[in-house]
Amino acid sequence: MTGFSTKAIHAGQDPDPATGAVVTPIYATSTYAQDGVGGLRQGLKQGYEYSRSGNPTRTALEECLAALEEGRHGLAFASGLAAEDTLIRALTSPGDHLVVPDDAYGGTYRQVARVHQRWGLEHTPVSLADPDAVAAALRPGSTRLLWIETPTNPLLTVADIAALSALAHDAGALVVVDNTFASPYLQQPLTLGADVVVHSTTKYCGGHSDVVGGALVLNDDALAESLRFHQNAIGGVPGPFDAWLVLRGLKTLAVRMERHSDNAERVAAFLEQHPKVSQVLYPGLPGHPGHEVAARQMRRFGGMVSFRVAAGPQAALDLCARTEVFTLGESLGGVESLIEHPGRMTHASVSGTALQVPDDLVRLSVGIEDVDDLLADLDRALD
Ligand SMILES: *Cc1c(COP(=O)(O)O)cnc(C)c1O
Repeated sequence: MTGFSTKAIHAGQDPDPATGAVVTPIYATSTYAQDGVGGLRQGLKQGYEYSRSGNPTRTALEECLAALEEGRHGLAFASGLAAEDTLIRALTSPGDHLVVPDDAYGGTYRQVARVHQRWGLEHTPVSLADPDAVAAALRPGSTRLLWIETPTNPLLTVADIAALSALAHDAGALVVVDNTFASPYLQQPLTLGADVVVHSTTKYCGGHSDVVGGALVLNDDALAESLRFHQNAIGGVPGPFDAWLVLRGLKTLAVRMERHSDNAERVAAFLEQHPKVSQVLYPGLPGHPGHEVAARQMRRFGGMVSFRVAAGPQAALDLCARTEVFTLGESLGGVESLIEHPGRMTHASVSGTALQVPDDLVRLSVGIEDVDDLLADLDRALD
């Protein structure tokens, strides 16, 4: 199995050994019969004792995610933030330092600044588009992690994963890439030098806005063992039904990402020539400052488009109220198109911090509907 879609459909998903079911069953069980005290069941699906520690539906998802990210180990979580919390707690101790993007996803920044900081973890927000600034922010000996997000949410900033990984490794830090916006179909950070990939599988991996989940994927065996210990000891795991929904979503990831990219390219080009739009942020546009890096490390440019409304914040809010095909709502990565105002919605939690976003900014998650309907909707709403 080498092709991406073949792996998405088959990795970790052999027909069920008990029944031959082609689709991985939802193993709705908390516990497993044991063959004697201390003797876990032997057989094709073996070694299960309790569903916080492991569940066959979750195992299928974890193996599939690892295969799609070209990693040896995958771990699934109840949400993207549960995955991030487990990773940070497993890798850091009080007094350690993190370098984080100055336009990270608001929830990531809130967790670092308002949860982990209370336990003695320091952090420095920095622009990842500026390698000199990243080099200056790394503190050899105390920086444990360089946190990369690319493209970022919601400003679509692009970071050079290979170049920044080399910088961080020189300073003795591990590199984490939040790959939520690109999905493993468009970008595979482990192949570019990153140590750990984080996903909110809520977004493109699930793809249908019907589940919340998260994941970690990595290659290092010792680190994976430590993460598995913390996954079980902290307990932020997904139930079997949630794991199954993400697994089903992954099967169509490649075709969805192609269509998201097709539609977003058209939407970005339309907005760029529109007189009421002052700036379009989309890495696929040749004028985007990260276009060349994105073209090198991504297969295509994805489905997220942000833009600034020329007439200012009120006009941006009015636009969000006027679209009909684009639904006003948080989250992203589903088949349906969504529109939102980051300053008042997804990124309200970073208002007043270094991560505050412009208040004339509108973010689109461009879905896989017919693109002419999407363009007509934006045209009408902007008028
Ligand atoms: C949504 C999101 C997260 C958090 O994931 P949840 O599943 O909502 O906990 C992390 N990073 C990015 C880039 C996101 O968009």
